[in-house]
Formats: sequence, C-alpha cells, structure tokens
Amino acid sequence: MTEPLLRVEGLHAGYGAVPVLRDVGLSVAARTITAVLGANGAGKTTLLRTLSGLLAPTAGRIVFDGADLRGVRVERLVHRGLAHVPEGRGVVAELTVDENLRLGGLWRRDRADARRALDEVYHLFEPLARRRQHAGHQLSGGERQMLALGRALVARPRLLLLDEPSLGLAPRVTAQIMALLQRLRDDTGLTVLLVEQNVRSALSVADQGVVMSLGRVAAATTATRLRDDEHLRHAYLGF
Ligand code: ATP
Repeated sequence: MTEPLLRVEGLHAGYGAVPVLRDVGLSVAARTITAVLGANGAGKTTLLRTLSGLLAPTAGRIVFDGADLRGVRVERLVHRGLAHVPEGRGVVAELTVDENLRLGGLWRRDRADARRALDEVYHLFEPLARRRQHAGHQLSGGERQMLALGRALVARPRLLLLDEPSLGLAPRVTAQIMALLQRLRDDTGLTVLLVEQNVRSALSVADQGVVMSLGRVAAATTATRLRDDEHLRHAYLGF
C-alpha cells in the first residue's frame, strides 16, 4: 500500500489547559478530498490549526509526505507544500487583490513559476482578474473566499487545509468552489482536507469523510457510505 500524504496518530491539542483534540488519528491519501464534518465545537477548526502548525499538539504525530512535522516552523510548512485557508478567510483588507495574491508566492525562489501560478489563479477566478487593483475590503464575501483560496494556490500546495469555504456564500458560489476543488484534485493532483458545515455539498465532492465529535474521530469512511448509510447519517450528521 502506498504511504498516505498525511498521517495523524494519537493527536492531542487544546487551548491552554483546555483539551480539545483527543487521540485523533486519520489518514489522507494523495489526490483525494477528505471532508471533516461534525457539530459546532467538535474540534474541526482546532484540527486544521494543529495540522498547519498554528497550535502545538500536546501529544501525537503528524506525518506529512513521510516526514514528522513536529518542531517544523509554520513558514517552513508552506515550503513543504501545506497551505491553510482559515475560517474568516484572512484576506488583508488594505491590500489590493493583486498584492494579496502575490503574498502567497513571496517566499518562492522560482519566480517564473510564481508568476505562472498567479496567472493561473486569475484564469480560475475571473472576478479576481477584473478586480486586480481593488482593495480586499471592497470585495464581496464570495470574492474574498476566492482570494483566500487563490492566495493559497499561488503557493502551489500539495495539501490544502480549507476551513468552511462555503461560510456566508450563496449556494451557486459554494457549488463553484466545490467543483473547482474537484478539478484541482483531478487535474493537478491536489489533496484537500475540507472542513464544512454544509455536509451535503462537502460529501458531493469528497472521496472520504471524517466525522468529529467532542474532539475525537467518531467515524471515518468513504463519502459514498456517509451519504448512503442512513444509520451513519442519523447518528452523526443529523439528516
Ligand atoms: P465550529 O464549526 O463552530 O467552528 P469546530 O468543530 O471547528 O466548530 P473548534 O472551533 O475547533 O470546533 O472548537 C472546539 C472547542 O475548542 C470548542 O469547545 C471551542 O469553544 C474551543 N475553542 C476554540 N477556540 C478556542 C480558543 N481560542 N480558546 C479556547 N477555547 C477555544
């Protein structure tokens, strides 16, 4: 069996003395989309923050592309191919669309490829191309989400950690973003860990699903099974 791109074992993390993640284990194969589902407060955002190095685990291992990430500085994680688009999007309001996107590629030595990646993002997100010189705060919610996603893509990640991309977006825009994730997986081999409250739309594009409950992994199986198994749906997803 091939080694998964991401393997998490016995992960514990929390805020100060408050434990949130308890013994989390998961495995993500390359070129797949994994939906991370679960009720409010289940620990989904905390999981992404821990994987992207923003929060230090108190125990456990995170193995990315065969290497243990313990002790690796946040900025080095980006160099290794990990990108995190946090909930709330993190667009710099005072900077223009173009400046925000360039931030994503600033560290890259291969300047020619950084420029190519930027062009690709403008090609993927037409509205951003039309608003290159607009400031972040002038964009709509959907455009800000595209910008946050675009900035992550300029770094050419192998693993994209995406927190609630559909938050506050019209269903049509959400559908576009989900379709884009599928296309990136199929065409460029991108691997995605997708936290979503919008269970149906996440499962419509995901290959597998991980359901979190009270900081633990309550179920991990294929997206098809989570969609079709009434018992699992009732027990964990409430529909
Ligand atoms: P949501 O969908 O509401 O974002 P979630 O599954 O992403 O939920 P987390 O945001 O990871 O859940 O929160 C898990 C737990 O950690 C919650 O009980 C929350 O109150 C707590 N928590 C989150 N952020 C902090 C923080 N900065 N300091 C202390 N506790 C926090």
